[in-house]
Amino acid sequence: MSMHAMVATGPARPLQWQELPLSQPGAGEVRLRVEACGVCHSDALLLGGRYPGLTYPRIPGHEVIGVIEALGAGVAGWEVGARVGVGWNSGCCGYCSRCRHGERFACENIHAPTGILRDGGYATHMLARASALARVPAELDPVEAAPLLCAGLTTFNALRHCGAGPGELVAIHGVGGLGHLGIQFAARMGLRTVAINRGTDKEPLARQLGAEDYIDSSATDPAAALRALGGAKAILATVTDAQAMQAVAGGLGPNGTLLVIGGVGALTVDSLDLLAKRAAVRGWYSGTAVDSEDTLRFSLEHAVASRNEIYPLEEAQAAFERMMSGRARFRVVLRVGAARAGG
Ligand SMILES: [Zn+2]
Ligand SMILES: [Zn+2]
Repeated sequence: MSMHAMVATGPARPLQWQELPLSQPGAGEVRLRVEACGVCHSDALLLGGRYPGLTYPRIPGHEVIGVIEALGAGVAGWEVGARVGVGWNSGCCGYCSRCRHGERFACENIHAPTGILRDGGYATHMLARASALARVPAELDPVEAAPLLCAGLTTFNALRHCGAGPGELVAIHGVGGLGHLGIQFAARMGLRTVAINRGTDKEPLARQLGAEDYIDSSATDPAAALRALGGAKAILATVTDAQAMQAVAGGLGPNGTLLVIGGVGALTVDSLDLLAKRAAVRGWYSGTAVDSEDTLRFSLEHAVASRNEIYPLEEAQAAFERMMSGRARFRVVLRVGAARAGG
């Protein structure tokens, strides 16, 4: 028995199509038949060799939808045939101090992100810890659901913890793969949603997705524009550039929070502005499996959908390059094999 995968063989090398032996799941693990896997900007941490402790070969991919086809020893609560998702978080031990304090995302024993330090979903099959599995509603198409497991989870989970309540002003900075989902989630959570992006190309879409206001950051100072609206209770920073992020931080209102959900290196903020507003800069970790389930259910109930460009698994290198070009509208997803909803 064998499987196929697109494998990273070293930093800055093109992905390689390989046939590999099919492994049996170990204790606490399941084996999935992968149906779809999203291509995420964070995959560049592996493909570019920029994550601590990397080893190769490694299979990328942390927006995985698949069907359980084998159970390892000691797996309770899951059954063969269940459709499941796996995100960046590759599980938790359940017994360390942090897990027992409910901080499972920061488990002391398991901290190997999927598709970075542990093999991911650019493959026909994948092993995953049962503690990393999210149940995927049958109504969701695998390709449509895959981006919700990182881009969706990260924006949904950050927004629901951002401190803003219904009717309060929240800015989504960047209308791209993350931002187009962030706008939908924010609007459907009842937040007063303003989108910020360079130029006006994406204004009609941003409004269609639920933004009440739009700020063109190339034509106006986005921080001043946010202050003119009363100041943001939260700014969800989805851009990949620290300079652009810094330029909006001054748009926070009293007790506002700038939520950083992507690594952009060093960030400079005005300390006087922060203390005068009692404002905060906060990082937000995507979430764990149960947060993924919440994201999927909310998306289904409120018709939140990712807009995707779809590639076959074998073309993962082209798919990755397309995503990195910044021109994709908006997420890029690998369809694996002949898998279809209900198939
Ligand atoms: Zn991701
Ligand atoms: Zn733990």
